[in-house]
Amino acid sequence: MKQSKTFIPTLREVPADADVKSHKQLLRAGFIRQNASGIYSYLPLGRRVLANIEQIVREEMEAINAIELLMPAMQAAELWQESGRWEAYGPELMRLKDRHDRDFALGATHEEVITSLVRDEVKSYKKLPLSLYQIQTKFRDEKRPRFGLLRGREFIMKDAYSFHATRESLDETYDDMYRAYSNIFTRLGLNFRAVIADAGSIGGKGTHEFMVLSEIGEDTIAYSDSSDYAANIEMAEVVTQYTASDLPMNDIDKVATPDQKSIEEVSAFLNVPADNCIKTLVFNVDGELVVVLARGDHEINDIKLKNALEATSVELADEKDVLALIGANIGSIGPVKLPVDVKVVADKAIKSIRNGVAGANEDGFHYVNVNPERDFAVNDYLDIRFVQVGDPSPDGQGVIQFAEGIEVGHIFKLGTTYSEKMGATFLDDQGKAKPFIMGCYGIGVSRILAAVAEQFQDESGFTWPKQLAPYDVHLVPVNTKDEAQVSLADDLYSLLKSYRYDVLYDDRAERAGVKFADADLIGLPVRVTVGKKASEGLVEVKFRQTGESFEWQKEELIDRLN
Ligand code: ATP
Ligand code: MG
Ligand code: MG
Ligand code: MG
Repeated sequence: MKQSKTFIPTLREVPADADVKSHKQLLRAGFIRQNASGIYSYLPLGRRVLANIEQIVREEMEAINAIELLMPAMQAAELWQESGRWEAYGPELMRLKDRHDRDFALGATHEEVITSLVRDEVKSYKKLPLSLYQIQTKFRDEKRPRFGLLRGREFIMKDAYSFHATRESLDETYDDMYRAYSNIFTRLGLNFRAVIADAGSIGGKGTHEFMVLSEIGEDTIAYSDSSDYAANIEMAEVVTQYTASDLPMNDIDKVATPDQKSIEEVSAFLNVPADNCIKTLVFNVDGELVVVLARGDHEINDIKLKNALEATSVELADEKDVLALIGANIGSIGPVKLPVDVKVVADKAIKSIRNGVAGANEDGFHYVNVNPERDFAVNDYLDIRFVQVGDPSPDGQGVIQFAEGIEVGHIFKLGTTYSEKMGATFLDDQGKAKPFIMGCYGIGVSRILAAVAEQFQDESGFTWPKQLAPYDVHLVPVNTKDEAQVSLADDLYSLLKSYRYDVLYDDRAERAGVKFADADLIGLPVRVTVGKKASEGLVEVKFRQTGESFEWQKEELIDRLN
């Protein structure tokens, strides 16, 4: 490709609005441009890196018999109503109406579409297992789009879905996916860990996240320094069982409040400021109690859990909420899984409140005059333990370390959550109708572009490895007015192309300094510079990652590059 013909708008200045180095460099080197918050154009170079990532993903998917299709981004609301997610997904789901006033969603993920497709087309266990995937644009109206492509509102995902007649079959495909994902991230050259993840609102046991270790990661993982154990911190933190009777109650008064009251009603009933009252919602997810805090009225059922959890992580900036959670759970029995933000602020919060009210949304479970320092301490009485660096890892094979991670992939065993809600059944070998057992498997393709951009760069620009680089070779004649240089460069361009190298040919009439700075910024693995020695048939070959450079005869170029 002749550089004069393509579109690589590099920038000399570091863009001020970019906060992490991947985002800065992608803008500077002319790989992407922002269109609106969390919405980007992939310019030709960015598109080529994406294509390389997609290629690796496709090869590994096909290797485990997952088959590519392409589903619509625009999806009828009826499907989302069937699964219950039209309500449950909340404001993150992009919604629109057509000219007939009918509701649609822009796909945030495709469980509904694929389940309805398979429901209509697959009737017998003989057609199972079936794994389908697509690489497609997703839409999520993220509360805080940031770090460029890392958290976009429009982004590219590879999403796969599998359908099974038996649990064992799902387990097999899940293991295949786990291996395929490991291969993908290894081939991409990323420093990653597969971690035990939170099943969250998707439900079902069995889920792993693939985390790229990076200081800009938004997740924290706890891992063992000398074994394979690794978990999202949300899962690693151990919260054990306790009962109300174990607790010394001191002067805390337990008061009977009527069931299902709003904060305002509780506040009026107990004669305390509404500010000191926070409700706790306790969900039972797969036999595990999940505690969520909220203010105001809530008629929240399981389906709304995701919204509630997301609302919670915002509200938890307020330390009082933590107290309420703790207080409320004096009345709850069972293992409690805390949203991660609770843990972050719990230690601080415990010291901050005097004489508050804490309580679950249930008759008889409110406490007044709560003074946490005096009455209970998180660690002593509720036995909420925070995993610390240096703790033994749960497999007993090492000690815990923490690292920040970027979630680049996520695999789930969905079970029959969607197939039951959407009435997607097949006939088993006895002729009996059964709901499909499902799995789903996502990879953030455009997020990976940011993750690799973060990892493969130095002060001068990108340092792409071969498998990701937008072109293999940057061919740079220093002076395009010099006939010998241009003629040698033209020859080499044809020669390299005939050996199937992807070549970016800098045929621009720019100063040498500009060309070299752009070449470093773009970061192709090999730069072939045609300069003063062109008349002797000599070129300079420089390797971007190592900085090594050599002077080679044009005749030896191909052999040496191979
Ligand atoms: P996160 O925790 O970062 O919000 P998620 O758990 O909501 O991600 P999934 O629903 O598991 O995401 O989607 C599968 C994959 O899609 C993720 O592992 C991630 O790589 C990618 N992804 C999710 N949200 C975004 C986004 N806003 N921008 C870019 N990639 C994303
Ligand atoms: Mg998300
Ligand atoms: Mg996540
Ligand atoms: Mg996820």
